[in-house]
Order: sequence, then C-alpha cells, then structure tokens
Amino acid sequence: MNRSSTAPESDKRKICRCGRDLSGRGRELCDVCVMVDEVMDSFGEVLVQHFPHACSGDLSPDRTIRLVHAIDEAIVEWIDNNVTEETHESAS
Ligand SMILES: [Zn+2]
Repeated sequence: MNRSSTAPESDKRKICRCGRDLSGRGRELCDVCVMVDEVMDSFGEVLVQHFPHACSGDLSPDRTIRLVHAIDEAIVEWIDNNVTEETHESAS
C-alpha cells in the first residue's frame, strides 16, 4: 500500500533544496536559501560592475555548488552569532 499517494496535501512533507523542512510554509525555499540567492545575485552584480564587458556570468557547476554551500554555512553561523530571539523578526 502506497501511503503517500493517499495522504492529504497537508501531510506531505515539503523539503527545501538544501534539505531543510518547509512544513507549514507556503514557499519553495527556506529563509537561508532566500538569503543565499540574494547573496549570489549581489556577487554577480559586483563582478559585472568591474567587468562590464564579460561575455557571460558563468561559474562551473562544482564551484557554484561549493560557493552556495559556503554562503549557506556563513549565513547560519552569522545568524547563530548575531541574532537573538528578541531580534529575530523574520519567520522561523
Ligand atoms: Zn533551503
């Protein structure tokens, strides 16, 4: 018996691309991944400012994965070190 095929929509466990649980959220990405994407966008914008005639904005897939992972870890560490329960206003 395939239980998942008969489970109501609310029982389906939503997982972010990073593996974090998204249960109870109406989004496709967790807070950290939203911030990672914003950092990646800023990264590209800075390089384009310095190299406006670059032919593309490509990084290798391996470098992209490692960069995203490093940014994710840095964001989590920064939040752990700098955000208290009192200052945490975004959804957790
Ligand atoms: Zn995520």
